[in-house]
Amino acid sequence: MKQRLALLGSTGSIGCQTLDIVRRRPEEFEVTTLTAGSRWEALVAQAREFQPDSVVIADERYYERVREALASEPIKVYAGSEALSQVVTGGEVDTVVNALVGYAGMLPSLSAVKASKRLALANKESLVVAGEHIMREAAERNVPILPIDSEHSAIFQCLAGEVSAPRRVIVTASGGPFLRTPAEELKNVTVEQALAHPNWSMGAKITIDSSTLVNKGFEVIEAKWLFGLKPEQIDVLVHPQSIIHSMVEFEDGAIKAQLGTPDMHLPIQYALRFPERGELGEERLDFSKCANLTFEAPDLVRFPLLQTAYDCLRKGGNSCCVMNGSNEVAVAAFLRGEIKYIDIQSVIMGTLEKAQFVANPTIDDYAASNEESRRIAREIAQRLRK
Ligand code: NDP
Ligand code: MG
Repeated sequence: MKQRLALLGSTGSIGCQTLDIVRRRPEEFEVTTLTAGSRWEALVAQAREFQPDSVVIADERYYERVREALASEPIKVYAGSEALSQVVTGGEVDTVVNALVGYAGMLPSLSAVKASKRLALANKESLVVAGEHIMREAAERNVPILPIDSEHSAIFQCLAGEVSAPRRVIVTASGGPFLRTPAEELKNVTVEQALAHPNWSMGAKITIDSSTLVNKGFEVIEAKWLFGLKPEQIDVLVHPQSIIHSMVEFEDGAIKAQLGTPDMHLPIQYALRFPERGELGEERLDFSKCANLTFEAPDLVRFPLLQTAYDCLRKGGNSCCVMNGSNEVAVAAFLRGEIKYIDIQSVIMGTLEKAQFVANPTIDDYAASNEESRRIAREIAQRLRK
């Protein structure tokens, strides 16, 4: 029987690469749901090609256009963010691929796990905001959560077949486009410079997050929840070539690493086909062409937000939710040209100072905290406006 996928965020970078895998293996996969935020034309084109049972356009303003465009197809059309959490629970879904970006992915992840669906997870913000809840719900139901993020896929691949717990994990980081940029120049980098990632081609938000190392900080939080680690068991190591995707160290000192070219098709396919691998036909790693694999510690002075993520993780409660919400507002304001690159830090730090701390948040508390953080972050961004 084919594996039936509900693909959330199908029009994005991970979403499109997931559809590449489905296209190559039509005998293995079938798509039951596709969803987009606002890019309705891309959603309609995907729906015509993959013939899902349903599509969701999260931005309700485009509902009529999607409905009209798909009127002659046997495809149900839904709109609104609540529909994202509903379509994943249907009996026709085996695996939910969550390729949404931002806080918007959290409730659909929770909903998938509660409906006992296998969750192939790219949306790291789900675990940044509500990792404890999502992992608990998954453990109670024995629902697998399969990481798509390349570092976590690497760790997951290194752990496969091991019965001993890891001593620590080493999450590698490319260092982003500003690895060698002096602190003084970081103040004035442009949107274009920040969007030019050296090794990976990704959505805009994660590309900015990679340049500030917020993405790496979020990956530390993601690793904690996925693999049940303490913050001090998670190290970040800058490895500019992005060949080693991450490593695991065991009690006896053995270190396992997963290597490959930087290409998200591999971790996506691994999550979908786990525990099996399969031909991918992508470029293969040629060691004779990558003579230098280099490593260095991250610079927490120029990139303090990596430390902020560790601090939030240690503080617990809703801290990571606050950091996430304020980061989303700050990154969006920077991308719109409203604040300077360096102000992303000020918005996040300022919000963390002002937002109410909740020690044991419920899911409703996260929603309220996300709203509050965004409001505070918008106020700070407004004051910093260029
Ligand atoms: P993109 O921005 O390329 O795509 C995001 C997808 O989510 C699009 O389909 C978009 O729709 C949809 N979307 C955006 N906002 C909303 C919303 N508010 N409600 C509903 N749908 C929405 O992101 P990426 O594919 O780059 O990233 C997706 C996730 O995967 C992120 O969490 C990221 O951190 C993670 N990730 C990505 C990697 C990559 O290589 N890209 C690598 C590792 C992790 P529309 O097209 O209409 O805007
Ligand atoms: Mg990653």
